[in-house]
Amino acid sequence: MKIIAIGRNYAAHARELNNAIPGSPVIFLKPDTALLKDNKPFYIPDFSSDIHYELEVVLKISKEGKHIAEKFASSYYEEVGVGIDFTARDIQNIHKEKGLPWELAKAFDNSAAISSFVPKSSIIDLYNLDFQLQINGEQRQNGNTKNLLFSFEKIISFVSGYITLKKGDLIFTGTPEGVGQVKEGDKLEAWLSGQQLLNFDIK
Ligand code: MG
Repeated sequence: MKIIAIGRNYAAHARELNNAIPGSPVIFLKPDTALLKDNKPFYIPDFSSDIHYELEVVLKISKEGKHIAEKFASSYYEEVGVGIDFTARDIQNIHKEKGLPWELAKAFDNSAAISSFVPKSSIIDLYNLDFQLQINGEQRQNGNTKNLLFSFEKIISFVSGYITLKKGDLIFTGTPEGVGQVKEGDKLEAWLSGQQLLNFDIK
């Protein structure tokens, strides 16, 4: 499986990192070795002194597809969860300045923490979906999918024009504003539509 992630998909987050609002989805990949599941702890790697959390809604692809039209894209995911797109912001900033790819900042081991998934059918409105992150009991991010720049269907259609989607692939759909650094000893808890789906420690 592969993990596809969308950058700059909430305008307020693009602005907080001084990035332009994109005209088409910004995408990058994480390998399967980036997965961090079952609320296992995240260990801060020694190559970065500025690891950021980015809470995101995650789609699980339910069947193979390529060149998927936007109007059919909703049938390519049946489950939704949340994840943390851990980012080595110090490395990313250097690579952005030099116009280099982001993999060292985004694709490292355990950089894609994911929750369990809930059926899409249990969600009343996919485009009015609250998701929150608390660190040590304090709210840090409070997003709502009504603020997405590119819808889930637009993302699936766009990505599948270049990269075949396969069953089990995950799409991180972008983070809202409020990103920041994690520190050893932090407890991260995340909710989707009021349901706690993530609860793990930084070590
Ligand atoms: Mg992200």
